[in-house]
Amino acid sequence: MNDIPKKGKVYLVGAGPGDPGLLTLRGKLLLERAEVVVYDYLANSKLLNHAPAEAELIYVGKKGGGLHAMPQEEINRLLVEHGASGKRVVRLKGGDPFIFGRGAEEIEELVKAGIAFEVVPGVTSATAAATYAGIPITHREYTASVAFVTGHEAPGKEESNVAWDKLATGAGTIVVYMGIKNLPIIAQKLIDNGRSPDTPVAVVRWASTPQQRSVVGTLATITEVVQKAKIGPPALVIVGEVVKLRESIDWYEHRPLFGKRIIVTRTREQASELVSKLEEYGAECLEYPTIHIEAVDEADSQVLNAALANMLAYDWLLFTSLNAVTYFFKRLHEKGLDSRALAPCKIGAVGKTTADELGKYGLRADLIPEKFTGEGLAEALIAAGEAQGKRFLLPRALKAMETLPEMLEDAGGVVTVAPVYQNVPPQGRKEELRTELSKGEVDLITFTSSSTVTNFLTMLDAQDEQELHHLLEQVKIAAIGPVTAETVRKHGLQVDIQPDKYTINELTEAIVGHCRPGLSV
Ligand code: SAH
Repeated sequence: MNDIPKKGKVYLVGAGPGDPGLLTLRGKLLLERAEVVVYDYLANSKLLNHAPAEAELIYVGKKGGGLHAMPQEEINRLLVEHGASGKRVVRLKGGDPFIFGRGAEEIEELVKAGIAFEVVPGVTSATAAATYAGIPITHREYTASVAFVTGHEAPGKEESNVAWDKLATGAGTIVVYMGIKNLPIIAQKLIDNGRSPDTPVAVVRWASTPQQRSVVGTLATITEVVQKAKIGPPALVIVGEVVKLRESIDWYEHRPLFGKRIIVTRTREQASELVSKLEEYGAECLEYPTIHIEAVDEADSQVLNAALANMLAYDWLLFTSLNAVTYFFKRLHEKGLDSRALAPCKIGAVGKTTADELGKYGLRADLIPEKFTGEGLAEALIAAGEAQGKRFLLPRALKAMETLPEMLEDAGGVVTVAPVYQNVPPQGRKEELRTELSKGEVDLITFTSSSTVTNFLTMLDAQDEQELHHLLEQVKIAAIGPVTAETVRKHGLQVDIQPDKYTINELTEAIVGHCRPGLSV
């Protein structure tokens, strides 16, 4: 896009209702180019990840008079000030900026100050709440009209701008924003003005987020239902016959892992695959990268350097992990070589993920053992008569188990172990992690390698086994394979979930099977 001026403009961008996937492409592009982002609490903070690292992020707090709210005049002043200083400012507003968002007031100030602006619509929370609660807000057989109203002004007040008397029977579906506080008055007003007390009503809180919660009642009962369920703002009230359809259409809250909070411990580089699979099933993932992967330093690279200069000296090249593939090829390319240098060797790979990674370099593994472990690979090579007298190059982590090289050497092979990457525990987030766990808000932790277990426990920093058990009391543990599971048990913890095959897919399915037994996915 080339219509974005380099300097001095304020963009009011609709952030959508909560699900970060519901931001528009235009909104994303503007965030990516923002120099200042002004956002409030209804805009999902995950969206800030689209902004450049050096962008200034300004939180203007809760709307509707919360404790930390910044007065509207102050927000207007801030926008004018940053716009006037020649910056590209994104004002990120929950839902759509022009639907009960005071967007117009912000624009009016910009107009007065002569500052250029643009408005990007967003998915408003009313349609998102309806969709994610399984309620089509219009339907040929039920209603041909829908009204969006604010419940902020108490009905009956003289200055109320909402004609509740006409609205009661004038619109088929009524969606009320900011209506929780005044719900008893609103429901009564609609009944008094001719709407049947039996009209179905749904209330949806934190729509399109993992915290979404919906309850259903009628105009006569909904106040009590909401009080019992302790539903507070932000929530939307949907009134109308279409609410009945929820019974058969509700999908979002029925996804198999909906409502589950899962800690994913992986390397920062690898977390995304597991996270996106779990999220696809409705889980909320808390990512705690426990290891950071980096190349070994120069001194430790010498074995690999020598090997790369003479690949003819090897019969087999063995990869036991995706990281080994990544860092091996990094070094190969740094040396000015490519996959052709590996032509003299056969290739063995542990696991489908590792084999798939090789595919990215145009290579196909000659051997992938049934058992996805180093031991499995050794057994398969030995069984194929490929150990005795054979020479192996094994690029791998600086610290790793010796089972594979030892088994091959015992069977008469010669193994060159070449360290290519190392695991470094990342810093920080201990307090956040301990708070999450002690509040009992975590259902499950996933471990995908032994080092994620040890590094996670290091990060958790429990004083003793008693405290560790206390922190993890309510939490189930999922381990990807037997080696990882063994490491978990060594620390006195129990493994609740372990897939038969050691892949991310199988791990995800095993988690679903555990959380929702009997549900086929
Ligand atoms: N401009 C926003 C609305 C802001 S008014 C939009 O277009 O959605 C704030 C009100 O919006 C809240 O009190 C609540 O009624 C509603 N709301 C916003 N996000 C919501 C969400 N994720 N779930 C339920 N209601 C939400």
